[in-house]
Amino acid sequence: MSLLPFDRSDPPHTPPDGCDDPLKWAMAHRLFQDHRANGDGACLTCVPVKLVPCHGRDLALRGFLSSLGLDDLVLPTKAN
Ligand SMILES: [Zn+2]
Repeated sequence: MSLLPFDRSDPPHTPPDGCDDPLKWAMAHRLFQDHRANGDGACLTCVPVKLVPCHGRDLALRGFLSSLGLDDLVLPTKAN
């Protein structure tokens, strides 16, 4: 069971209840979509190619959390 108020592998386009910044959520969602994986797990946007979750996905997650006022849940980014 996730502690987050959304599915981090498929966040909704519409922000969940408690979102303080819908514009930030929308921008994070766009970033999330841009950094989706192809069939081999590689990011469609990152150059050079990175496996997903890439830094773009991590940044999108930070945006989702920030828009919900949950910045304190952001973990350090793991480089791949
Ligand atoms: Zn990426």
